[in-house]
Amino acid sequence: MFQLEKLVRPHLLSLTPYSSARDEYSGKEGVFLDANENPLGSATANAYNRYPDPYQWVVKEKLAPLKGVRPSQIMLGNGSDEPIDLLVRAFCEPKEDHILILPPTYGMYEVSANIQNVAVQKVPLTPEFQIDVPVVLAAADEHTKLIWLCSPNNPSGNVLRRADILQIIESTSCIVVVDEAYIDFAADTTLLTELDRYPNLVVLQTFSKAWGLAGLRVGMCFASEAIIALLNKIKSPYNISSVTQQLLAEALTEVAKKDAMVQTILVNRERLRQRLESLPNVEKVFPTDSNQLLVRFQDSAAVFSYLLEHKIIVRDRSKVKHCDNCLRISVGTEEEDNVLFDSLLEFTRAIVHD
Ligand SMILES: *Cc1c(COP(=O)(O)O)cnc(C)c1O
Repeated sequence: MFQLEKLVRPHLLSLTPYSSARDEYSGKEGVFLDANENPLGSATANAYNRYPDPYQWVVKEKLAPLKGVRPSQIMLGNGSDEPIDLLVRAFCEPKEDHILILPPTYGMYEVSANIQNVAVQKVPLTPEFQIDVPVVLAAADEHTKLIWLCSPNNPSGNVLRRADILQIIESTSCIVVVDEAYIDFAADTTLLTELDRYPNLVVLQTFSKAWGLAGLRVGMCFASEAIIALLNKIKSPYNISSVTQQLLAEALTEVAKKDAMVQTILVNRERLRQRLESLPNVEKVFPTDSNQLLVRFQDSAAVFSYLLEHKIIVRDRSKVKHCDNCLRISVGTEEEDNVLFDSLLEFTRAIVHD
């Protein structure tokens, strides 16, 4: 049976969090002499002299109905990086507990654990980039606190089978984090609908991809109220700036614009996929449910450096599990994809003429 108090690092249960000035009075009207702010204004044209809402309620009230959750089930972070780091710090005792990841996957889970001196267990995905469910379940022991599932997965691009994800969540008493950074590009639906059924489920999403707001740095963490309260307790008090909160509130009224961008990227993805498959030196374009294409070339190193010489930058994934000779290519604009494709064509012609 899942018991949150048994998973949390014991000293955090009794930790007294920082109490910010704005925790004590939540009204908007008043003479605010409680936070040592500058009462005159800011050095900039717009005024930012007041501390922002530590819990970003205006943003969460707009975001919650969009996601079908309650505002109290949301934690916003400085990129997904922040909740990834906080989850490790909340649940893993350094040198004692560990996390479990399924390579090849997103690099930050391992880096965050390394920073905290938390060991990382690795159970590779199958060569089709799916979960090896029995091996994952057998590997998790009493010191495994977090299992990280990335769906759609980075760098392979595909969604993990929903039935497998649910089986992991149901069969383990540790926290299962499902990173859905690319869910807007997938035909599959989010795990957010399962949040109220599984107290050990945490879902991560981000404003960095579909919403086009990578520069703002905002990640979304969805979980039970108890887990969100725990993360709020250990986050830095004012982790999302007032500029960011304003821009997010604005972005959340532009869902149609986000959806239109996603549609364009899906069209570009299909076009790019077909063109890449037509190239003689491409061995495989892996099926994708995201805005990235994992492509196996005959000689990825040569392709990679040829592209780099022409100032086309893709991601070399040839050294990661199951990804020999693979490059990861983000879907670009139609023009960018043309530049890439033309360059790849030139490369193949150059090989033929050698
Ligand atoms: C891009 C990406 C993120 C987003 O990270 P941010 O810190 O929110 O920009 C999260 N998870 C995965 C798997 C990603 O590829």
